[in-house]
Amino acid sequence: MSKSKDCGDWQWQWRHRLAGLTAIGDFLALSEEDLARRRAAAERYPPLATPYYLSLANPTDTADPILRQVLPDPAEIEARWTADPDPLAEQADSPVPGVVRRYPDRALLLLTARCAVHCRHCLRKRNWGRRIEWNHGAADQAFDYLEKNREIREVILSGGDPLLLEQEKLQNLLERLGRIEHVAVVRIGSRLPTVMPQRFTEDFCEMLGARPGRWLATHFNHPRELTDESGLACRRLLRAGVGIINQTVLLKGVNDNAEIIRELGLGLLRIGVKPYYLFHGDPVAGTRHFRTGVRRGLQIISELRGRVSGLAIPTFAIDLPGGGGKVALTPETPVVIPGQPGGDEDFLFSRLDGEVCSYGDDGSG
Ligand code: SF4
Repeated sequence: MSKSKDCGDWQWQWRHRLAGLTAIGDFLALSEEDLARRRAAAERYPPLATPYYLSLANPTDTADPILRQVLPDPAEIEARWTADPDPLAEQADSPVPGVVRRYPDRALLLLTARCAVHCRHCLRKRNWGRRIEWNHGAADQAFDYLEKNREIREVILSGGDPLLLEQEKLQNLLERLGRIEHVAVVRIGSRLPTVMPQRFTEDFCEMLGARPGRWLATHFNHPRELTDESGLACRRLLRAGVGIINQTVLLKGVNDNAEIIRELGLGLLRIGVKPYYLFHGDPVAGTRHFRTGVRRGLQIISELRGRVSGLAIPTFAIDLPGGGGKVALTPETPVVIPGQPGGDEDFLFSRLDGEVCSYGDDGSG
């Protein structure tokens, strides 16, 4: 297979996606020794990537930020750190199948478990390989719930990647949402602008932007992911009337320094995308090696202030475990309690329900 990132349209990218360590190892010409150390993690969390996304990597660089996001790492299955597969309690906050409700004015629809790339830091890696598909039964129950709960003003389409749903199904869903008067905003969470930007054909973008109030929340983590193809995808979306925001996850060894976040922020603005959130990594099973410690994120924001336009600086935030909601953090966040000498520190936050919760920071999460 050609390694050119220009190769093929989105159907070609989708048909030729590389599933499994052997296929990815062949594409990148990884050594047998390298593959052997990754095998157990690959069995637990199977890797997947588009040829386009892999073509952005430098396979000879072990610290490559693209490879770190797609290649299984032995650290993912380290037994000495047990973590929750669902730390944000999405399953507990689900009033009907396929719907997650944490805030009064918003509801999230989980439409599919399919993705074009399995990002190693994924919050929902527990769902990889599961068959979660939007079907008539689930849709009717979810729409019934949305229609009855008139305080819901925004619906977030999520997954997996909701833009991998068949176009006709997606169009029906968007039209049906458009008929619910109190739903003013539809936000689509998709990583396709980063990993399969070819999907954003003119007609697909026009379908997405057919009504006002449509937003796409995408997920660029590193300036290397900003290419001519992703720029074209964003231009088409913007022309079609879809607003675009970006949510970056702070990842150790990928983007945990101010220069990278600065370059990413400025690059995003150049293609019309607002850097929205920089998330501290959630304590998800299989992702500990990516966590930086809360202080790292605060330091990055502090280094960017005054050096770069506020438009290019995302809000640093933590999603509190147990469905406690998001909290924005600034370098001035005053709620630090010193721990034992030489030991951990806790941050204290107020949850959505008013309870105060402590968030342990052991330097890696
Ligand atoms: S595209 Fe999104 S849902 Fe899919 S693996 Fe990546 S982060 Fe997870």
